[in-house]
Amino acid sequence: MSETRKARSIGIDLGTTNSCVATIDEKGRPEILENRQGQRTLPSIVHLEGDSRILVGAPAKRQAVTRPKSTFFAMKRLMGRRFHDPEVERLRKALPFEVAEAPSGDAWVRHADRLVSPQEISAHVLFALRDVASERLAHEGPFEAVITVPAYFDEVQRQATKDAAAIAGLTVRRLLNEPTAAALGYGAHKFGGGRLAVCDLGGGTFDVSILNVEDGAFEVIATDGDSALGGDDFDLRVVSHLAAELEVEHGFSVLEDPVALGRLREEAEKAKQALSETAEGSIDIPFLGTVRGARLDYHRVLKRGELESFAADLIERLEGPCLGALAAAGLRPDAISQVLLVGGMTRMPAVARKLENVLGRRAARNTSPDEAVAIGAATQCAILDGHVTDVVLLDVTSRALGIHSGNGKLVPIIPRNATVPTRGSRILTTSGDDQAELAIEVYQGEDVELERNRHLSTVVLGELPKTRAGEVMVLVDFTVDVDGILGISARELGSSVPVSIQVKASSGLPRSDVDRLAKERAASGPIER
Ligand code: AMP
Repeated sequence: MSETRKARSIGIDLGTTNSCVATIDEKGRPEILENRQGQRTLPSIVHLEGDSRILVGAPAKRQAVTRPKSTFFAMKRLMGRRFHDPEVERLRKALPFEVAEAPSGDAWVRHADRLVSPQEISAHVLFALRDVASERLAHEGPFEAVITVPAYFDEVQRQATKDAAAIAGLTVRRLLNEPTAAALGYGAHKFGGGRLAVCDLGGGTFDVSILNVEDGAFEVIATDGDSALGGDDFDLRVVSHLAAELEVEHGFSVLEDPVALGRLREEAEKAKQALSETAEGSIDIPFLGTVRGARLDYHRVLKRGELESFAADLIERLEGPCLGALAAAGLRPDAISQVLLVGGMTRMPAVARKLENVLGRRAARNTSPDEAVAIGAATQCAILDGHVTDVVLLDVTSRALGIHSGNGKLVPIIPRNATVPTRGSRILTTSGDDQAELAIEVYQGEDVELERNRHLSTVVLGELPKTRAGEVMVLVDFTVDVDGILGISARELGSSVPVSIQVKASSGLPRSDVDRLAKERAASGPIER
């Protein structure tokens, strides 16, 4: 009989732009796992070539310029969303690859003549991270992972993340809210706790969360954000200024040349990053294009002050969500005891300055902002393994859960911000004689108007005893587990016999597809990263 290998625990920050994996060393300390090239984060980018070649991370990013239609990124923003979701409609216009409607109505992407779910693409990123861990830890598997998700992710988006992990062959020990992970990563519980503001500016989004940390217990009390503000916007500002200059000074229309534009964007991002450390940087692109038959070599010195002025309005926009989160928490800035900065963009001095000014406090600088979330996820592994005993994580439901009352209104069953795990129940009765089935529509959201909430599933309770209308009473139990995932059970009150229950989810991958994709993933060749 083959020996069962012991699972290793890893913490994963599955980011929109970059991802990161960490573990706990022998002494119980979290550490980031670097890849072979010494990189500590992996771009969340996947390039698919034909049916079998899969590139992830830096090699995939290099394909983005020349093969934009088969190089996929920003999957986290599509995962678990409907095709007609306004956020998806907005994104579709900005993404260079095709976002298409799956038969289920979900937002998927097109690769050649095939539709692929964002879960499947994200699974390649997770698989690459698993590969990094495998190599660094000299451990083939199995792996158990704590994976982070935005605090506002609804149940469908959380389930989609779990499905992506299952396809990648990872067992999910826990889904952890990103702000909670960041606070853990910064070790907030070690220095007194209090009210924390976690500001996360990544590649595509800005999230602000207010946490209460007390006696080692972490609770997210409010979140706000701007889902259309991130590092990509800063890059675009630089690109559009340089493009205008190129037009005037050299008569070169870089916006009409996709390859040149891709190269300019890449160099603009590098210069933006360098300007976080130095006051000026240079952009050099040999043979950017040809103008009137002559080769154009591009050289431009970019100053930090220029970057700040190009992006001044973007920096101003950081204020709204900070004030929004404070208002939602019912707090004034002076009630905040710590400001934690998360996401690569908070390395930009003007960004950090702005957040510190609005929140009236210097930010903690003891951890790398782009690693704090993964470090926090690994710390959660240590908590679950019993290596860290002075912390209790209390996460809360991101949205309320309720059912359709029959008159277009939502009846809440589990409120928003309830500490998980939690449960709620409701007694339902039949409305017709000999009614053998009861169907309920389950929604997530707080709006009393049904349409403004997210439809999660249709639940059919069957095999009810046949009798007069109103005589059958069914107790329906809703549970939300620590990962924020909903479970439903039901029993008939008279006989206490469990009723049959069928849940038809309105979004996401069926279990059978997840299992099939996991088998395919395990059987297919290695990915290039
Ligand atoms: P994240 O998703 O947290 O990795 O954030 C990615 C964003 O941070 C991208 O827009 C990067 O260009 C940006 N970024 C990474 N490092 C730096 C840096 N040193 N200075 C400014 N922006 C950075």
